[in-house]
Amino acid sequence: TVCLPDYLKRSATAFPDKTALTFQGYRVSFAKLNDMVDRFAASLTDFGVKQGDSVAILLPNVIPCVVAYYAILRIGAIAVMNNPLYSDRELEHQFCDSRSKVLITLDLLGNRMIDLRPRTSIKQIVITSIGDYLPFPKNLLFPLVGKKKGLSADVKAADNLYKWKALLERPSASMPQVTLDFNDVAMYQYTGGTTGVSKGVMLTHGNLSQQVQHVSAWFPSFGSDEIMLGALPFFHVFGLTTAMNLAIFKGWNNILVPKPQPPQLLEAISKFKPTFAPLVPTMYIGMLEHPDIGKTDLTSIKGCFSGSAPLPVEVIKAFEAKTGAIIVEGFGMTESCPVTHINPFKGKRKVGSIGIPLPDTECRIVALGDATTDVAIGETGELLVKGPQVMKGYWNRPDATAEAITDGWLHTGDIAIMDEEGYFYIVDRKKDMIISGGFNVYPRDIEEVFFEHPKVVEATAIGIPHPKRGEAIKVFVVLREGQTATVEELLKYCEDKLAKYKWPTEIEFRDELPKTSVGKVLKKELRVMEQQKAR
Ligand code: ATP
Ligand code: MG
Repeated sequence: TVCLPDYLKRSATAFPDKTALTFQGYRVSFAKLNDMVDRFAASLTDFGVKQGDSVAILLPNVIPCVVAYYAILRIGAIAVMNNPLYSDRELEHQFCDSRSKVLITLDLLGNRMIDLRPRTSIKQIVITSIGDYLPFPKNLLFPLVGKKKGLSADVKAADNLYKWKALLERPSASMPQVTLDFNDVAMYQYTGGTTGVSKGVMLTHGNLSQQVQHVSAWFPSFGSDEIMLGALPFFHVFGLTTAMNLAIFKGWNNILVPKPQPPQLLEAISKFKPTFAPLVPTMYIGMLEHPDIGKTDLTSIKGCFSGSAPLPVEVIKAFEAKTGAIIVEGFGMTESCPVTHINPFKGKRKVGSIGIPLPDTECRIVALGDATTDVAIGETGELLVKGPQVMKGYWNRPDATAEAITDGWLHTGDIAIMDEEGYFYIVDRKKDMIISGGFNVYPRDIEEVFFEHPKVVEATAIGIPHPKRGEAIKVFVVLREGQTATVEELLKYCEDKLAKYKWPTEIEFRDELPKTSVGKVLKKELRVMEQQKAR
């Protein structure tokens, strides 16, 4: 069994001096990265962390995030990735639910975490700072991690508080020889929380190792050596696999972007010339809308990968035209590491499709409400997947696990279609489907129409309570800067493009839409607001 830490060792042996990570100009070679991982693994062992214990990471994409993750896996402990933008309440839930024993975080969050610690099972807190690797920390992370606040004096003296740098400077100590097994849990990865409470997904060493192999098989080299744009957050499984683990597996230089906002993305691309960029739709949209895009050279990028939410066709066309890159769309979920489908880079790519299944990945599309019946080609149903990347289950939630997986088949909760060539299309989420006057309406159909409108940047459609039709359709629209439009104008525009039962009855203009950390529109928030209004 060859697990993720073995891939790092292999890269460190094969090309020790190659750059593994670049953090604003600071470079870490593969040999150095492997050595840092060993040292930190020894520290974790000194803390009393044993095989099967949980360790929490609360960091954006910085060097210690990669080191800590691989160190935790190397000693057979369980990594728990957390979003630095989460509130104390959300973090308390994840720390307690996962029973994390140690926390690795950033100085800016130190005071808050020390206050939170007594309510959790965390004993040691390890604190890193941007200054650990950069002499003059630039304004990199704000406002990603809130206002800068130094650690107070009493906090510095607190027990069980460790400085990252001091731990990494220790002589590399005795490391327990741990044998990793494919069936052992390597991490609890909490789901995005787009549709409900986030659940801890148990991903095994086998899941993660096979996933990176399969994803890797998919990506040709565009040149002799690729440079990864490490902008997707590593605390989310999409970034973890396609940005962090893939780069280590392939031996590519990974450009870490801790704050993946449009100006920082554009700056990182023009400065470090990445060739490969896995990103989410909001990042493509954000860059295209940014005033600096005209003066930024984006032509280093040869290949892009998009997933996590539908990528509007208009956005693909515009971004490809600006960069000359190919964007391929894929699909996945936390419960499957996440990737299950990708469009081929070489061979036939179908715009608007999520592509074909990864190797060893089986798929079915079953009737809504009857998971025993497969639908015909071209018909809609729920997508089920089975493969080496499918999770062991939800941590501590056997009921939710039984609901999600039957006979090894993972129920995605997504409505899909397969065409006669075996390409898959996501129609929408089951939970987002609107039932209006007895018709099934897929919000995505309506959203695509709005995306084509020249004045519209973003749009999202939801069902709102309606006395006669059950649900009516409401669209929230963000207009392009400096543009104005009327509700009547947009309603009229829809009437020409959509069947009558898909016409929205309400349109609301917004400056922005509520989103999750990876930029998915939080439709549940919009729905709750509308339901409260209706009461
Ligand atoms: P939660 O399960 O907590 O509500 P979530 O489902 O958003 O959150 P993830 O596991 O990150 O959390 O996301 C998986 C989901 O993202 C899929 O089930 C699907 O709905 C959506 N998705 C992923 N890729 C695509 C894509 N290419 N097109 C459309 N939807 C996608
Ligand atoms: Mg989900």
